[in-house]
Amino acid sequence: MSFQAIPGQAAAKRLLQNGLRQDRLSHAYIFSGPVGTGRSEMALALAKAIYCQNGIDDACGECLECRKVEHGNHPDLHMVSPEGASIKIEQIRELQKEFAYRATASGTKIYVLYHAEKMTVQAANSLLKFLEEPNSRVVAILITENGNALLPTIQSRSQWIQFTPMAREQMVLTLLEEGLPAALVGPAAHVTAGLQAARDLIGANWFAEMRTVMLQLAKETLTRFPTSMITVQQRIVKTELADHVSTLFDLLILWFKDMVQLRLERRDKLVYNDQLDWMSSLALSRDVSIWVRMMEQAVDLQKRLRFNANSQLVIEKMLVEMQGV
Ligand SMILES: [Zn+2]
Repeated sequence: MSFQAIPGQAAAKRLLQNGLRQDRLSHAYIFSGPVGTGRSEMALALAKAIYCQNGIDDACGECLECRKVEHGNHPDLHMVSPEGASIKIEQIRELQKEFAYRATASGTKIYVLYHAEKMTVQAANSLLKFLEEPNSRVVAILITENGNALLPTIQSRSQWIQFTPMAREQMVLTLLEEGLPAALVGPAAHVTAGLQAARDLIGANWFAEMRTVMLQLAKETLTRFPTSMITVQQRIVKTELADHVSTLFDLLILWFKDMVQLRLERRDKLVYNDQLDWMSSLALSRDVSIWVRMMEQAVDLQKRLRFNANSQLVIEKMLVEMQGV
């Protein structure tokens, strides 16, 4: 992984690469942002660029140092993740010991803390003392979903790097370039917050099936209703899809959005592009206000799932509402 290979996050790259070029890296960085926005990849890219024998502001990816980082066996790079529910003071002490006694080959030691917001108060205070030691060449990278959850004293000693969710269009393009199936890329990019989350969803063996079943239900409910109830029973309730009913609603809400677009004769931003034939004629059979109302009902019913409502009943209620209009 190099900076160049990470999609998006231009502001973060600019800050880090300027620091590398001017040899003015901060002692500590907070990489704050949602899961799937490339925070871990960026941490590795920074480590590689620091150690790389060839590149100045990015890694060559080929030299011995780059490969050591890639393979997770660079002696001066340390990773710390929560043990159980938290990062404990013993883990920070361990790190400090490691840093105090071992000579570095490269001149710079780097440590990466995953889920940094999960440090116990003791661990955070211990880390703070570490950050205050000005003598050594150490770069700390604190990865977190919420940098504001860190001690204010840690925040004030660190440079904040904000990671933003990628724009949908960019996400779709990147996933397509990776060769993932187009029929799944659109829906996955719309129901997740980041690239990795979308990749995981596409890779989950139930996701493609859920998309197929959702489309079948939408079609059946509006044309031959009794069949749709059987479909719910046989293809959702009795299968592993039963564990992912909220995603069914995510997909259905996207489908209603497509129907609204089609009813308004807008075809450029559709998620279910490969289903245009039957969807466009069905879209015209109802007024746009009806599609909007169905979408709102789907949003409401999806909320009930969060309060442990019986998911089969919630799906059936949705289908009855759809059929009634
Ligand atoms: Zn290199």
